[in-house]
Amino acid sequence: MSLFASVEMTPGDPILGLTEAYLADSRPGKVNLGVGIYYDEKGRIPLMRAVHEVEKSLALEAKPRGYLPIDGMPTYNIATQKLVFGEDSPLLAAGRVATSQTIGGSGALRIGADLLKKVLPKAKVAISNPSWENHRVVFSAAGFDVVDYAYYDAATHGLDFAGMLADLGKLEPGTVVLLHACCHNPTGVDLNAEQWQQVVDLVKERGLMPFVDMAYQGFDEGIDADATAVRLFAASGIDAFVVANSYSKSFSLYGERVGALSVVGKDRDEALRVQSLVKRTIRSNYSSPATHGGALVSGVLNSRELKAMWEQELGEMRERIHAMRAGMVEKLAAAGSPQFGFIQQQAGMFSYSGLSKAQVDRLREEYAIYAIGTGRICVAALNRANLDTVVNAVAAVSR
Ligand code: PMP
Repeated sequence: MSLFASVEMTPGDPILGLTEAYLADSRPGKVNLGVGIYYDEKGRIPLMRAVHEVEKSLALEAKPRGYLPIDGMPTYNIATQKLVFGEDSPLLAAGRVATSQTIGGSGALRIGADLLKKVLPKAKVAISNPSWENHRVVFSAAGFDVVDYAYYDAATHGLDFAGMLADLGKLEPGTVVLLHACCHNPTGVDLNAEQWQQVVDLVKERGLMPFVDMAYQGFDEGIDADATAVRLFAASGIDAFVVANSYSKSFSLYGERVGALSVVGKDRDEALRVQSLVKRTIRSNYSSPATHGGALVSGVLNSRELKAMWEQELGEMRERIHAMRAGMVEKLAAAGSPQFGFIQQQAGMFSYSGLSKAQVDRLREEYAIYAIGTGRICVAALNRANLDTVVNAVAAVSR
């Protein structure tokens, strides 16, 4: 009898299962809107020009691959802080921020979760309803009870801001509040700057622990505008908070696993003490991050010329997403479905389209268009070649 005999089959990831079904589909003109990846106009995952430049010079240098420090490359971490908190951040000048290169944004979330479990062992974690499915999984795995706060309003396809404030206002002091900085996954529904300010004020008043997850910086309005939440928390006088950021999308480096965790303390001394605990947490988890992806991001961000090249290309990606949103709404209206105007107000790669499970099933079965059962579609998988196919099918199932 095997010692593994008691292990039962664990359900797989439904989104990955959808991709498998898409790949097995032999119908021409099939479209996969179920993914969480930015594709370019030709339907490819871009290799950004600035990244490729660094990659070429790394290959020529032929440097040895020793271990990185536990918290990663200093050049990567300093450049990350400037991007996340802003070049002129008073918090950075005061030494209140400690940043660690992590294994993707997911690694930052998990290290942050393990850290907070040590610091606030009795706290709960509040996540938006709905949220990226892995938020619940990661914080539960770290031992937290996870609760929801109101977020999406299905009736308006927008934000239930009153519900959100009411729920956040009921949380116990010390509760960890997970907030999506921008380009909310899965809904595409974001807060505006005034709404963020109200949330920041409430979080401060109730003594909550903000954990900002920024996986799509630069995908909606721009690098600084998309970091509004972080900048407002920084300006609020709140002593302690945490930010996870990911470069998977903004550098199109999904498989390189590039992200960072930044912890903010009351002063330099507190930040150093918290960072010592972050390092212990990383050490007991995966020991140290990986060299190659970190070197790519650091190489781009630390060269004025390559950084400008990257920002321009990121801007083109953002513009393409906006154009696809506008095109979809306009074409749907022309096809007799004017009710999708909200898609243009939503931000980032995703949109909660309002399509029902039954409509999503019809899209897949009758039109070879794959979307998530919740109605989430990846707008960044649309292009000029597949837009009409998608629009006509969505209009047909919406009649
Ligand atoms: N947070 C959110 C909201 C995300 O959507 C994602 C990626 N899908 C991540 C974090 C994690 O990013 P990474 O792939 O860098 O681990």
